[in-house]
Amino acid sequence: MQESDLLKKIAQTRQQTKLKSSNSLVNYQSIEALSKQLDLNQSGVQDWQQLFTWVAQYLEYSPDTSHPNFANRMWSGANPPSIVGEIVTALSNTSACTFESAPVATLMEAYMLEQMLDCVGFKQGEGQMTTGSSNANMIAMMVARNQVAKNTKQQGLFNQKPLFAFVSCDAHYSLDKAANILGIGTQHLIKIQTTDKGGMDISALDDAIRAAQKKGGTAFFVCATLGTTVRGAYDDIKHLTKLRDKYHFWLHGDGAWGGAVVMSSILKAKFLKGIEQLDSFTMDFHKMLGSNLMCNFLLLNHQNLLSCTCADGDNSYIFRDNKVDLGVNSLQCSRRVDSLKWFLDWKFYGKQGFADRVENYYQLSKFAEDFINTSNELEMVVKRSSFNVCFRFKAKDANTFNQNLRNRLLQEEQILLACAYIEEKLVFRLLISNVNINQATLVELFNRIIETGKSIKYNV
Ligand SMILES: *Cc1c(COP(=O)(O)O)cnc(C)c1O
Repeated sequence: MQESDLLKKIAQTRQQTKLKSSNSLVNYQSIEALSKQLDLNQSGVQDWQQLFTWVAQYLEYSPDTSHPNFANRMWSGANPPSIVGEIVTALSNTSACTFESAPVATLMEAYMLEQMLDCVGFKQGEGQMTTGSSNANMIAMMVARNQVAKNTKQQGLFNQKPLFAFVSCDAHYSLDKAANILGIGTQHLIKIQTTDKGGMDISALDDAIRAAQKKGGTAFFVCATLGTTVRGAYDDIKHLTKLRDKYHFWLHGDGAWGGAVVMSSILKAKFLKGIEQLDSFTMDFHKMLGSNLMCNFLLLNHQNLLSCTCADGDNSYIFRDNKVDLGVNSLQCSRRVDSLKWFLDWKFYGKQGFADRVENYYQLSKFAEDFINTSNELEMVVKRSSFNVCFRFKAKDANTFNQNLRNRLLQEEQILLACAYIEEKLVFRLLISNVNINQATLVELFNRIIETGKSIKYNV
């Protein structure tokens, strides 16, 4: 099939499935029913028609993530400019590892990293796009490890004083994975209790660092979660930098979710005071800011550390210019072009557009909390600290009840709700990261939850 026919056919199939589903949230199928329906064993050799049958099914049974009732994740349907970027990326199919293979993408990535260094306030920094905040957190920990134990790269972690890293007990699970991958050991990732607002308890951190030192260990890394995944709490950067003066650890900021407020001067001042003093910072553009998955960057508030940490081995067969080729300091060899969609989004909306967006999400979160607090049927489980609204339906045996309510809302194809546990309480975690959400759609969403909840409660 010609490229132009291919694009036409994709657009047609997309259009047909949209009409068929009449813009509903999801066509829900159980695993068993869907497995039968798809018939993945069917032959597709040289058979475009069969391939497009699968494409249509893929589209038909995928939830519409841009629907206002898709309240399941930290992202939603993508920004149109980034969709253009993604399609063009697929058509041009190249790797952003060298200037030769991806000249424009290379310059765009370097340009965007400069823009982000400026937003965050790192004056003499460097950075790279990575495959997501999970990997960015790991690379930050790796840089910190190789700074504190200088010979690790060559000699490994044998015969070293044990290394300890510290995070809030509400930090993202990718930090546990990083401790595993990097040879730190998950038991050497110390989880610090949070205060009732959800941020890391600084005096508990101080105690834990001293306890680690007493055991003969080195406290080398602290990760500030800037917007925790469940509660949306921000660790206090100012207090952490003071503690760093005392103990000299590497201070990383995981802003995967809440880092997006760097776009807004008002919210940046409220939640990220002192961000320019972090040693490193990561943020997902594919979450609150709406770029296509994946779109992430890691910034260091230092220079030349990515190369001495990450670059290795005989790569003379591929790289031509170590100063320009972005693959040199990456942990990957091939690198997907993620910069084109990022650049297009940035140019189309501008920093102000993204600031308006996060400020609007913030207002909507407050509106949602107010609605819940005045409702007879719903309750907040913890107070809102920023964007995340953690609530549930009031009921006896609340965990089971709310689990049933969630299942019913999905099976009836009404709402796909995120849920999580806070101190063993099941909560619905409303995360507003969708430009199609407004006060009216929120009210409708809550009313549907209330109606369905009542019908379960009173068995009608
Ligand atoms: C989502 C999230 C991550 C993981 O980000 P990915 O880009 O999905 O790897 C890490 N930390 C926090 C706080 C998150 O919310």
